[in-house]
Order: sequence, then C-alpha cells, then structure tokens
Amino acid sequence: MIGIFGGTFDPPHFGHLRPLLEVQQALALDEVRLIPCFIPPHRAVPDASAEQRLAMLQLAVSEAPGFIVDPRELQRGGPSYMVDTLASLRDEQGVNKSLVLIIGLDAFVSLDRWHRWLELIELAHVVVMQRPGGALPKTGAVAELMEQVQALAVLELQQQAAGKIYFQPVTQLDISATAIREQLFRGQDVRFLMPGSVRHYIETQGLYKC
Ligand code: ATP
Repeated sequence: MIGIFGGTFDPPHFGHLRPLLEVQQALALDEVRLIPCFIPPHRAVPDASAEQRLAMLQLAVSEAPGFIVDPRELQRGGPSYMVDTLASLRDEQGVNKSLVLIIGLDAFVSLDRWHRWLELIELAHVVVMQRPGGALPKTGAVAELMEQVQALAVLELQQQAAGKIYFQPVTQLDISATAIREQLFRGQDVRFLMPGSVRHYIETQGLYKC
C-alpha cells in the first residue's frame, strides 16, 4: 500500500510528521509520498516559494525511512487538484495497488468541497488522522459517504485498491503551519515544533519575517 499525503507545507512541522509516521506503521505502508501543492485550491498563496517548500520538505523527510517527496504537483503547475494527482498515481501503479490518501480531520470534514471529490474515493482509500479540535462529521454528504464505506480494520484497505474510509487515531499535536508562521513573524523561537534542519533553513533563507 502506498500512502499519499498532500499539503502546502509552508512550513512542514511535527504535526505532519509524527501522525504520518503512526499511520505508516499502523497500515504497514510500503512508502509514504509527501506531495507539496503548487497552487493550493482552498487557501491563500503560500508565503514560501514552491522551491523553498520543496527544500523544507526534503529536509523534513530525510530522517524518515519510507517517506518520499513527490514533486509532481509542482511540475504540473496550475491549481493542485488531488483528483488529478491520484489519477496520475493510479496510472503509474496499476489498478490493483492499494493507494491511501492520508488527510487530517480538519481537511476531511470539508472533503465535499474538493474538486470532483467523489472521484477521490474511486481512485484511493481515504485515511483520516485525528487532529486536535476536530470531530468527525455527523451529518452532511461526507458523513453519509463515511457511513457507506467506512472500514473498521486495516485488512479491508488491503483487500481492495480503493473505496474505503478509515479513521486512524494518532498522537494529537496541536501544531499548525499558520501558528508557526505567526510566531516567526513575531520573532519567536519555533524550536521543537519542526525538525531542526527545517528551522535552520527558515533562518538562512530569512523566511516568514515581517
Ligand atoms: P496551515 O496552518 O498553513 O493551514 P497546516 O499546518 O494545516 O497548514 P497543511 O500543509 O495545510 O498544514 O496540511 C496538510 C495536511 O496535514 C492536511 O491534511 C492537514 O489536515 C494535515 N495536518 C496538518 N497539521 C496537522 C496536525 N497537527 N495533526 C494532524 N494533521 C495535520
């Protein structure tokens, strides 16, 4: 099974990395692809450039075996729709390989606002990682889909290549890139919120300053 984790990564932090490692271990994923978006469809333009976000992500994964940075959305350019990314991965991996789209709970609750969202679940499974302050939706289109296709065991994700939603409890870290950027704008120390190599890169590039 291949894990796919998209994000802006402006910057990457331990709130991404630790829960992702736990998902990797719980699902015994062969690899986890971290895919930085070029233009995020649902939010403001990132502060760091695409090259800087890619460089930070490469530093962030350097200590994690099985974590791979996949630059396909940067190479593709334009708005980064996950459905296009999953379609290209599906073409490469064939119809039988389990693909697992990993997203935080905050992203999952608004999955129905993603471009061609119902196709996502045809192309991959969706694994939801807990995130502090979030709760699974009880009503609405996302809740209805979850009711229809929720997997209760990892085995179900291995038995078919796509189509299931699985909820993975993880260590909940209340860390966000937004809060990190705000702390940096205020000149505060962001040690222990991200790998030291990423923090050094931010310093040397003079990123996230007023
Ligand atoms: P920002 O604060 O700039 O919105 P972010 O910290 O939420 O950024 P993104 O790069 O936008 O990070 O998120 C990529 C993915 O990581 C999303 O699926 C999001 O839900 C998940 N994620 C981010 N932070 C956490 C966290 N602390 N715990 C669990 N999932 C997280």
